[in-house]
Amino acid sequence: MATTSTLKKLDHRYLWHPFTPMTEWCAEDPLIIERAEGNYLIDTDGKRYLDGISSLWVNVHGHHRPEIDQAVHDQLDKVAHTTFLGLTHPPAIELAKRLIEIAPQGLARVFFSDNGSTAVEVALKMAFQYWQQRGKPRKQKFLSLQEAYHGDTVGSVSVGGIEIFHQIFHPLLFSTLKADISSIENLVQQIKDHADELAAVVVEPLVQGAAGMLVMPKGFLKATENACRENKVLLIVDEVATGFGRTGKMFACEQEQIQPDLMAIAKGITGGYLPLAATLATEEIYSAFLGQPEEFKTFFHGHSYTANPLACAAALASLDVFKKEKVLEKLPAKMAYLQKSLEHFWNLEHVGDIRQKGMMAGIELVRDKNTRQPYEYKERIGHRVCMKVRSKGVILRPLGNVVVLMPPLSITLEEIDLLLNATYEAIEEITC
Ligand SMILES: *Cc1c(COP(=O)(O)O)cnc(C)c1O
Repeated sequence: MATTSTLKKLDHRYLWHPFTPMTEWCAEDPLIIERAEGNYLIDTDGKRYLDGISSLWVNVHGHHRPEIDQAVHDQLDKVAHTTFLGLTHPPAIELAKRLIEIAPQGLARVFFSDNGSTAVEVALKMAFQYWQQRGKPRKQKFLSLQEAYHGDTVGSVSVGGIEIFHQIFHPLLFSTLKADISSIENLVQQIKDHADELAAVVVEPLVQGAAGMLVMPKGFLKATENACRENKVLLIVDEVATGFGRTGKMFACEQEQIQPDLMAIAKGITGGYLPLAATLATEEIYSAFLGQPEEFKTFFHGHSYTANPLACAAALASLDVFKKEKVLEKLPAKMAYLQKSLEHFWNLEHVGDIRQKGMMAGIELVRDKNTRQPYEYKERIGHRVCMKVRSKGVILRPLGNVVVLMPPLSITLEEIDLLLNATYEAIEEITC
C-alpha cells in the first residue's frame, strides 16, 4: 500500500472529483479516508472524524454495521452481480415487496436502477410515455420548482433549478414550467392553466435539499397533490434525499399523507452502502405499459447494474435494522435535541438563517445579518468553515454559503453536541 503522501500526490495527479473546483482542490491537502466505524470516518493516519453529512446524505445506521456487512458477505458468497434484463434474483424480489409495504399508499411497482438522478429520469420518462399510451399525446410538459435539485443527468437537470449548477447547460435542456415554494396559489394556477399539456409535476417533498435545506410551508405538498388530482396531472416526488427516515418518517410524503403517482428513491436505500435506486409507480401507470411486444408499449430503459444483488442485500439488511432498532421511534428525541441545540447559533453575528426538518439542517451564513447581504461566492465562506471544522474532527460539506448538517440517523445526543460545538466554533473563528 502506498504511503499517505504518495496517495495524495497520485490523487492530485490523476483524479477529477465531482462538484469540485479542481484548482482549489489541488492547492489543498486531500483527506484520505481509509476505513470507518459507526458514525466516524478514519483517515490513513488513524485520525477519526464524525461523519456530519452521512457521506453525502447516504449513510443511515452508521458505517461498518455488522448486520449489513454480513448481508453483503452472504450475498457475495452466492453471486455479486447478474443481469436484471431477462433474469431476476431473490434479493431484488424480496426488496421490491418490502419497499411496496413501506411506501406511500397506491405505489405498487418497483423499477430498479442505480442512482438518484436516474431514478428521477426514469420517473420523467415513465410519466411522458404513460400519457402517450393513454391517448393524451399533448401531455408532454413538466412543472418543477425553482431551486430544485433532481440530479445531474440531462433530464433531471432539465427539471432542476439551481442556476450555478445548471445555467451553462440551458441549451441542452428541455423546457419546463417553473413555480416556487413562496406561492402555492401560483403553483395551483399554473397546474390548472396548463393541465392539457402537463404530464407531471415534480417536487422534492418537504425539503429542497441541495437548494440549502429550504423547507416547504405547511400544506404546500398536500395542495400540490390536490391540484394534480383535480387536473389529471401526475405527481412525481423525489424522495432521494428525504427518504429513509431523514424527516422523521420513513418517507417525507407521510408528513402530509401524500399519495404520489411516481416516487424516486436512492441515497439511503442501502443504508449508504452501495449504489442502488428505484422508481416506484402506481398500478395505473404500470398498466399503461402492458400489451403484446409488437404493440411497443414496453418501457425501453435499463442499466447494466440495475438491481445489483449486493446492493439489494444491503438494502434488505438496512430495512431490518430500521425495524430491529426501532430507528424511527428513536428519532423524535434526536430531532428535538438537534433543533434546540441549533437555536444557540442565532447568537453568531453572521448566521442569517437556520433551517431544519428532522435530521436535515442548514445554517446560512450572511455578510450582514440586518440587510441579509450574502457573502460573495469567491469568499468561499462555506468551504472555509468546513475546512476549519475538519481540524476539530468533524466532516462537513457546504452548499454555497449554507453549512449543511446531515448526520446519520444513528448519531447519539453526545455526538450531536460534538457536531454542533465544532460547527459553532468553526463559524465563529472564520466569520468573526
Ligand atoms: C442527491 C439527489 C439526487 C441525485 O442522486 P444521485 O444518486 O447523486 O444521482 C436527486 N434528487 C435529490 C433530491 C437528491 O438529493
